[in-house]
Amino acid sequence: MSEQCGFCGAVYWNEEKDTAHKYTKCCHDGKVQLPAFPDALELLKALETENSPDAKNYRQRIREYNSAIAFASMGAQIKPPRGTGPYCYRLHGQVYHRVSPLYASDQHKESYGQLYILSNNQNCLQHVFEKLDFMLREINPFAQSYLQMHRLVQEH
Ligand SMILES: [Zn+2]
Repeated sequence: MSEQCGFCGAVYWNEEKDTAHKYTKCCHDGKVQLPAFPDALELLKALETENSPDAKNYRQRIREYNSAIAFASMGAQIKPPRGTGPYCYRLHGQVYHRVSPLYASDQHKESYGQLYILSNNQNCLQHVFEKLDFMLREINPFAQSYLQMHRLVQEH
């Protein structure tokens, strides 16, 4: 990718020029303008870019961190195509999210929304979890909803 759109800076292969010898698959000569992505939160930026032991552990175990603090799990019928070929993640039907009740009970073991608080993964660093937890409690609307539901249950 050695070529670049003169309007938005999108990169192209030389062979991607249209018949007018222009690159138009990105912004149509500057007609489409999108706002820039907001900067990442400082904690996530540090964990994703620094070479500290915490950041290295986070990047090596990022799926474990993500799963441990997830509020829901994905549900769908996974139907891999038959035959041989490259890996393909194919779903059939509707994709849905599973969430758990606010509190565990005899019928509902601890899961997602509850484990988010209780999880203790041996491969991940507890103090990194605590920083991520603090961040989520500050900015994540689902975390704030869980906290509000908990407060309402405690009051009544
Ligand atoms: Zn462009």
